[in-house]
Amino acid sequence: MRRCTAAFDTVQSSATASKLGDSVQYGSKHPVSLARQKSALLHELVHHVQRSNNMEMPCVAAYEWQAYDLQIKWLREQGVEDPYALIGINELGIYMLSVCRDGS
Ligand SMILES: [Zn+2]
Repeated sequence: MRRCTAAFDTVQSSATASKLGDSVQYGSKHPVSLARQKSALLHELVHHVQRSNNMEMPCVAAYEWQAYDLQIKWLREQGVEDPYALIGINELGIYMLSVCRDGS
């Protein structure tokens, strides 16, 4: 989806990351949790399933709510206490990305 570039960037960065124990090293200075990267991949897979099933939503932004919801739930299942902090967004941010606006 157009609005989830942060999640997509995280997945892309993993292509150049080297594995380091339970986390990965992005470049040489920025450790990024493997759970965060896997959750970003899950987020994008949700969009793939949405498109594959021709899900109809009132606007493009509305697809984000389900993707973020499942991403947060999956992170909690993995034992992440604060999944919002891990992926750098809060509930208001998800709402703002998911709300239909004129022309979206
Ligand atoms: Zn998305």
